[in-house]
Amino acid sequence: MGYVQGLACRECHRTYPAEALHVCDYCFGPLEVSYDYEAVARDVDRESIARGPASIWRYAALLPAASSAGVDLGVGFTPLVRADRLGAELGLSELYLKDDTRNPTGSFKDRVVAVALSKARELGLKVAACASTGNLANSVAAHAARAGMEAYVFIPNDLERVKVATTAVFGCHLMAVEGNYDDVNRLCAELASERPDWAFVNVNVRPYYSEGSKTLAFEVAEQLGWELPDHVVVPIASGSQLTKIHKGFKELATVGLVEPKEVRISGAQASGCSPVATAFAEGSDAIRPVRPSTIAKSLAIGNPADGWYALDVVRSTGGAIGAVSDEEILEGISLLARTEGIFAETAGGVTIATLAKLAASGIVRKDERVVAYVTGNGLKTVEALGSDVGPSAVIAPTLEAFLAAEAAARGGSPS
Ligand SMILES: *Cc1c(COP(=O)(O)O)cnc(C)c1O
Ligand SMILES: [Zn+2]
Repeated sequence: MGYVQGLACRECHRTYPAEALHVCDYCFGPLEVSYDYEAVARDVDRESIARGPASIWRYAALLPAASSAGVDLGVGFTPLVRADRLGAELGLSELYLKDDTRNPTGSFKDRVVAVALSKARELGLKVAACASTGNLANSVAAHAARAGMEAYVFIPNDLERVKVATTAVFGCHLMAVEGNYDDVNRLCAELASERPDWAFVNVNVRPYYSEGSKTLAFEVAEQLGWELPDHVVVPIASGSQLTKIHKGFKELATVGLVEPKEVRISGAQASGCSPVATAFAEGSDAIRPVRPSTIAKSLAIGNPADGWYALDVVRSTGGAIGAVSDEEILEGISLLARTEGIFAETAGGVTIATLAKLAASGIVRKDERVVAYVTGNGLKTVEALGSDVGPSAVIAPTLEAFLAAEAAARGGSPS
């Protein structure tokens, strides 16, 4: 069982055993994994972590499941790259990108799924399942295939075609639901009580699933030489990732791996689905559900489960939440690709475009050490780029044709 003490309600703090539970019986608050931090502090240090595998499992002491060899696809420990060219464009002097386009199925979801399905196996659950906006579908299908588990994957019917194909290929039961993600999620919540022996990674084993996102904080701190950044920018769908990055930074200080420091945490949403950004802008505590309409489908959750907690983290750390249009998302994708050679999906465009806005308005400060989380691979959402991306010129296979095209591009005559 490692260092896990059990589950505790985030609202009333009642405690529960570490089983397939996700809501508090008394107040319906969400449950969260708690750890024996004193024991972790005693047993774990920077050297013992450095001796661990080059994956999320190097931080197993602060995760709710042991590494399960049967599930492992080699998730995490993705590069943290210094982004000086992008930083110069945005007027930031110390910018880094956490490049989670490099995970096995091309998004950060591999982190949460590896943890959720490892825990599911410990609990003896035989079937993997999820409600997905796309990336989770890819990741659950792949990890279930690796583990030899049956998988039921539920997606909105209008998902990007690539995400459908790259899920179906793993041989799962892929259910395309006529509705948006919030409809899919409601169906899965109902099904989860109907099928208690299934591990719905983001429903009945959600407390374990969400812990996987803490590795985004752990890795950044270790890759910065065991220092915390000043400010991070994180995309928001359900809000889980953002709250867990916060929890991860706090835990590192609690167990003595870093000097304590308040990291400012800012959030990024698409304006076509920005319930948390709207509540932030209005100074409101209530998150009004919306009907999503955006090319950033991986972030299109109109009724975000952890939205309120994400809002609270952003406010308490002195961050902000920005929202960007579809056009700005495409500009963000292109800016990142042109300056740093990283091709991100639409969620990455949301993060970079929001970072640009927050930097321009001075909320992200020039002198801060900033980390932006690039959470998904652009190959999955090529269709969002439309017809703008294509050849610079179409030419005959002759030297003359090339020279003419080159001159035309320069706006002059052939040399
Ligand atoms: C799911 C997802 C997110 C956000 O996840 P939440 O934890 O639900 O806020 C961010 N980026 C990508 C690419 C995703 O697929
Ligand atoms: Zn409670």
